[in-house]
Amino acid sequence: MEYAYDDQNIFAKILRGEIPNKTVYENDYALAFEDIAPQAPVHVLIIPKGAYVSLDHFARDASAEEQVGFMQAVAEVCQITDVKDGFRSIANTRTHGVQDVPHYHMHILGGRQLGRMLQ
Ligand code: 5GP
Repeated sequence: MEYAYDDQNIFAKILRGEIPNKTVYENDYALAFEDIAPQAPVHVLIIPKGAYVSLDHFARDASAEEQVGFMQAVAEVCQITDVKDGFRSIANTRTHGVQDVPHYHMHILGGRQLGRMLQ
């Protein structure tokens, strides 16, 4: 599978500092920021700093260092935000997964009781 990365996507612009964001956590490999249209009291997006379009692209091509750095950001976000009673992580992917922004992002949703989701 070929993954074509569009560096004009909105999260690429956020990474370049061209669009402001409410940063929750940042390390060398990942940026976590509040979703602009939160669906729950906690709604954070965690994105790799590398140019990956989707979870499967990131899982295939990101280095071990990038992948560990990303997961460390996930761990920090789960410490910083109020998700002690649980949360949901989502990675919408391409058309069938209804992915709007073509830069891999993990949603972390929590802070309230969520409904069942698999449709
Ligand atoms: P997707 O459907 O691609 O999984 O989710 C994209 C998410 O990005 C949506 O939840 C949307 O609200 C969020 N989003 C879109 N544009 C911006 C933006 O400019 N800033 C922030 N912080 N979130 C955005």
